Amino acid sequence: MIASHLVVPADITVSWSDIAGLDSVIQELRESVVLPVQHKDLFKRSKLWQAPKGVLLHGPPGCGKTLIAKATAKEAGMRFINLDVAILTDKWYGESQKLTSAVFSLAAKIEPCIIFIDEIDSFLRSRNLNDHEATAMMKTQFMMLWDGLSTNSNSTVIVMGATNRPQDLDKAIVRRMPAQFHIGLPTETQRNDILKLILQSEEINQDVDLNRLAKLTNGFSGSDLREMCRNASVYRMRQLITSSDPSGAALDRNNVSINMDDLLGSHL
Ligand code: ATP
Repeated sequence: MIASHLVVPADITVSWSDIAGLDSVIQELRESVVLPVQHKDLFKRSKLWQAPKGVLLHGPPGCGKTLIAKATAKEAGMRFINLDVAILTDKWYGESQKLTSAVFSLAAKIEPCIIFIDEIDSFLRSRNLNDHEATAMMKTQFMMLWDGLSTNSNSTVIVMGATNRPQDLDKAIVRRMPAQFHIGLPTETQRNDILKLILQSEEINQDVDLNRLAKLTNGFSGSDLREMCRNASVYRMRQLITSSDPSGAALDRNNVSINMDDLLGSHL
């Protein structure tokens, strides 16, 4: 079950070049994670500069946290375990503890490795008196295994968590994630960059004005922008299909270019 969530670098389909508008986060991750992994021989000679054992990515949904995590693994040549929290929390008492330790020992065996936990707050939120005994034990065990990574400084395993609710995280967890990055809603300039990237592989009409689109999409996440472009493309295809007469005579099937109206469509 765990193996089905394991991805080797060659199979990770995203890299830095698939991310727009997050250059400063990428630069910091390059320095704090990628370089120490790629130049392990140099970095192990200093106790002061090691790859962090925990990285936290926080910010609203759809802004690229998962994308960044996967691309970091790809760039650093790390394996990537996408740990589905539901798998741990749905298990019978005892089973989830076995699984948690299986995840960490697998990660250590196949290192360098990122254990990615999306919505980490749902699993490692602040402990409280209402916690089920099994949940409390699992959190404690998780932290012990995590701490164990530091004692084996030769192995590079990083727990990378993503959350929309960093304030709900257990303080003990936050302390274990010294590298923290806010990935917020894109600014106008960032939206322009994201739109450029998304549309670069599409045929677009000359009337498409990315500056105007970026201005009009205030509050859109990267995921919203992609959805807007996808809808525009679907709309264009539909137009071509439905406006054809049965013989297809009046249809210029070569003109699949997305135009500004397609993009403005139902969204703006
Ligand atoms: P969630 O909190 O819902 O898990 P997330 O922050 O992890 O969201 P992603 O899953 O990484 O968001 O992003 C969703 C999709 O949105 C990506 O697959 C990508 O197509 C697009 N996207 C988001 N941000 C960017 C960006 N900065 N550059 C390019 N594409 C982006």
